[in-house]
Amino acid sequence: MGLARVQSAVVIGVRAHVVEVEAHLAPGLPGLTLVGLADTAVNESRDRVRAAVANSGLRWPGTRITVGLSPAGLPKRGPGLDLAIALAVLAADGQVSAEDLAGVMALGELGLDGRIRPVAGALAASLTAADCEIERVITGCVDARQVGLVPSLRVTSAADLRCLVAELRGEVVEPPETPVESVTDSLPVGFLPTRDPTADLADVMGQEVGKRALEVAAAGGHHLALLGRAGVGKTLLAERLVDLLPDLGERESLEITAIAQLSGGVSRHVMTRPPFQAPHHTASRVAMVGGGSDRSPTVGVVSLAHRGVLFLDEATEFEPNVLDALREPIDAGGLTIVRAAFRITYPARFQLVIAANPCPCGNALDTRGPACTCTPAQRRKYLGRLSGPLMDRIDVRAVLTRPTLAELSLNPWR
Ligand SMILES: [Zn+2]
Repeated sequence: MGLARVQSAVVIGVRAHVVEVEAHLAPGLPGLTLVGLADTAVNESRDRVRAAVANSGLRWPGTRITVGLSPAGLPKRGPGLDLAIALAVLAADGQVSAEDLAGVMALGELGLDGRIRPVAGALAASLTAADCEIERVITGCVDARQVGLVPSLRVTSAADLRCLVAELRGEVVEPPETPVESVTDSLPVGFLPTRDPTADLADVMGQEVGKRALEVAAAGGHHLALLGRAGVGKTLLAERLVDLLPDLGERESLEITAIAQLSGGVSRHVMTRPPFQAPHHTASRVAMVGGGSDRSPTVGVVSLAHRGVLFLDEATEFEPNVLDALREPIDAGGLTIVRAAFRITYPARFQLVIAANPCPCGNALDTRGPACTCTPAQRRKYLGRLSGPLMDRIDVRAVLTRPTLAELSLNPWR
């Protein structure tokens, strides 16, 4: 009786982890036993895989089948292991060559009729496959576009299990009459190496100090604090920091696109520009750094800002525990969340820009306008909301003042 194995992947947080799927056929009562910390969706794949194999004109082994998912300690979620389980069972039964599947990753959910559906996190799984020196990925037609974005991977794809098995056997089959699954417009299908023209530093009149601070922060990768009264241009400047940053490399582009996908964001193209995230000051700690429930941990804003800019407008209005939660990602470039069922490391290497009024009335530090009416104690208390340990990590601080008419008319950037 046979034994076969194939690789697959499960996504935890924003990273995919390789899972080895082994199938063993032994004499005994017909049935399939799944071992290895599988959740409900994975357990249900028993029925999906059996129906898909039967409806693809293939033989379901009438023996006792054991499918092992390892590493056993890694929680397996979702239906993305279906295709790997089906191929491992078919290889153990000798219907496809087990040697052909050695070192291959299979990704896909199976429909009862045998069609191969896309899975969440196909791009993240492909990046992990490339990191683990897996050279070939077997998947459905939709996910093949995602896998094909990673240059080191070879892709074998088919619309359904029948065509896929035929391709693995080297047979020629008629493809299904109608495309079983059309490629949706929401999936990234290529690189778009263009700059967002909407935010340009040339749009900012005056504010030479702010522009200089922005350039220094961009050149050195420093975190930046902008202080100034309301309407002086803090947000306008902060939004333009991304414009000064270079395009992302190929690997970084795929990495941030995979993170955006897993958080529910969709993009027609691979994101080649650094992301810009500006959460509202009512954001919770979980929204900011991620985590939350044990069953479906969320991706935080700091991870969506990975390799880009995190802008906190009205920074003094954020809850102190939300601001303090930023210290770990600022220091480590990521953060680790531990729960009973999992341990996730989220990437979060961003440039922080905070903007704040200098005092409750907003007029302190600016002699060009109404005078500040706050007491020294009020001013200390107001800026004291930004904790010392957080401010210690911000290297560049600029005070923005109201530009004069002369500055507005002599804009050297135009
Ligand atoms: Zn004041």
